[in-house]
Amino acid sequence: MHKLLVSACLLGHPVRYDGKGGGPFDQLTAWQQEGRLVLLCPEVAGGLPTPRPPAEIAGGQGSEVLDGQARVLTVAGEDVSGAFLAGAEQALRLVRQHGIHIAILKSGSPSCGNLLIYDGTFSGTKVSGEGVTAALLRREGLEVFSELELPAAALALARLES
Ligand code: SF4
Repeated sequence: MHKLLVSACLLGHPVRYDGKGGGPFDQLTAWQQEGRLVLLCPEVAGGLPTPRPPAEIAGGQGSEVLDGQARVLTVAGEDVSGAFLAGAEQALRLVRQHGIHIAILKSGSPSCGNLLIYDGTFSGTKVSGEGVTAALLRREGLEVFSELELPAAALALARLES
């Protein structure tokens, strides 16, 4: 049985920057009952507290943070790139440990976002792109989906197990 790496906040864990969690999502609950889910909050795993100041990638992409070409800054200008990178590495360790091929990560996050991220101006403006953990996992060859793409994730899982 294949396991899935999932953002912990999607299962209601109160790990978001604002101290809240999300969900429930029926498909995730079903996979959890099958014992498929490996949950992680990369930002907490990287050493950040909850609640924590909002952070955004400053005018760049998660992949550029991985390459040292962009930084993740809090709204007060503190550089938290190191914690974001440490969290992404933790995700990669879990993926390798459990032989995971599919991740379902929270949309819009500077760690977990897979299609859209905020533009670094803290104005609520989203741009195309992915967060730091999402970028590292895609580099590793994983298929990365968000909670808005659960049917596509289910198809990918079915393909994997056919
Ligand atoms: Fe943690 Fe990712 Fe959820 Fe943010 S989106 S709270 S980093 S699991």
